[in-house]
Amino acid sequence: MSNISAQTAPVFTKFPDVHFQDPQTGIAYEDSGLGQNIYFTLTDVSFEEPLLFARDYPTFCLDPFLVCTPFRPLIPQQTETLCRIVLGTLTHAEVSQSTSKEYLQAELDRRNPFKERLVIKEVFITSRYRVRTALAGTYWKKIGNGHVPLAGDAAHVHSPVGGQGINLGICDAIEVRHAIRDHIEAKRTLSNGSEGSDLNRILQGYAEERRNIGVKVLALAKRLTRMVRCNFGWRRVVRNVVMRIVISTDTGISLAWKIFLLVR
Ligand SMILES: Cc1cc2nc3c(=O)[nH]c(=O)nc-3n(C[C@H](O)[C@H](O)[C@H](O)COP(=O)(O)OP(=O)(O)OC[C@H]3O[C@@H](n4cnc5c(N)ncnc54)[C@H](O)[C@@H]3O)c2cc1C
Repeated sequence: MSNISAQTAPVFTKFPDVHFQDPQTGIAYEDSGLGQNIYFTLTDVSFEEPLLFARDYPTFCLDPFLVCTPFRPLIPQQTETLCRIVLGTLTHAEVSQSTSKEYLQAELDRRNPFKERLVIKEVFITSRYRVRTALAGTYWKKIGNGHVPLAGDAAHVHSPVGGQGINLGICDAIEVRHAIRDHIEAKRTLSNGSEGSDLNRILQGYAEERRNIGVKVLALAKRLTRMVRCNFGWRRVVRNVVMRIVISTDTGISLAWKIFLLVR
């Protein structure tokens, strides 16, 4: 075993003969076409006035690429509304690494369809990210006498909606650990010390099993992202009614476990 990849996805794209692309559309990771690259800034802010019109919604959306999620007050006396703003930018230009209060305020003023003006009081944290969907063509590559199994974001990237990145990565890590252990044990039992096809099959098995799961989770993350963006008109009503029914039942909870592939 020569190497376990801790690299992020772009490094893997440099591996020969391994493609990193959206399994549904075939769009390559490096493709800079619109739709494949949406830049987001994520910012936690407080507002000058309480968000009265948003009180009943755990999340409200100003337009499909500007989502505000008010946090519940930590203490009953808390008067400030803390809010997470996720701002999408449909341009090829990257958003700045540190989003200024002025930039955010200008975007809120420009996009806010409600009568009530949202005035930012303080910006607490900002970060930025880019949403793309891509999966390594294989999770295992043999290079010379060495093996490179992939796990986590080195093997897959997808929208953070649904919060599946770490879940998927941890499950990869557990499985790759078993595969590496089995590989080493099998290698020890080979009398001549050379690597036979059985040895390759162990890591290949890991790669195929986890990649199949990756395909499902990526598709799920895309569906959930579409649901989040269905935030207007009848689509929003249907989505919210269905979600309320689903999450209020035991079946809904067990369904969630199954959806997120934690129970097989
Ligand atoms: C905005 C946003 C929100 C998210 N929200 C969620 C969420 O709610 N739930 C969830 O499950 N997931 C979420 N994710 C996804 C989650 O953050 C990632 O899936 C997860 O961090 C991937 O873990 P990883 O260990 O595979 O990769 P990384 O976290 O990228 O770790 C790789 C590490 O390797 C290091 N490294 C790179 N190259 C080298 C090198 N050559 N030598 C040594 N070290 C190197 C890097 O510095 C880094 O520390 C979110 C992602 C984003 C962008």
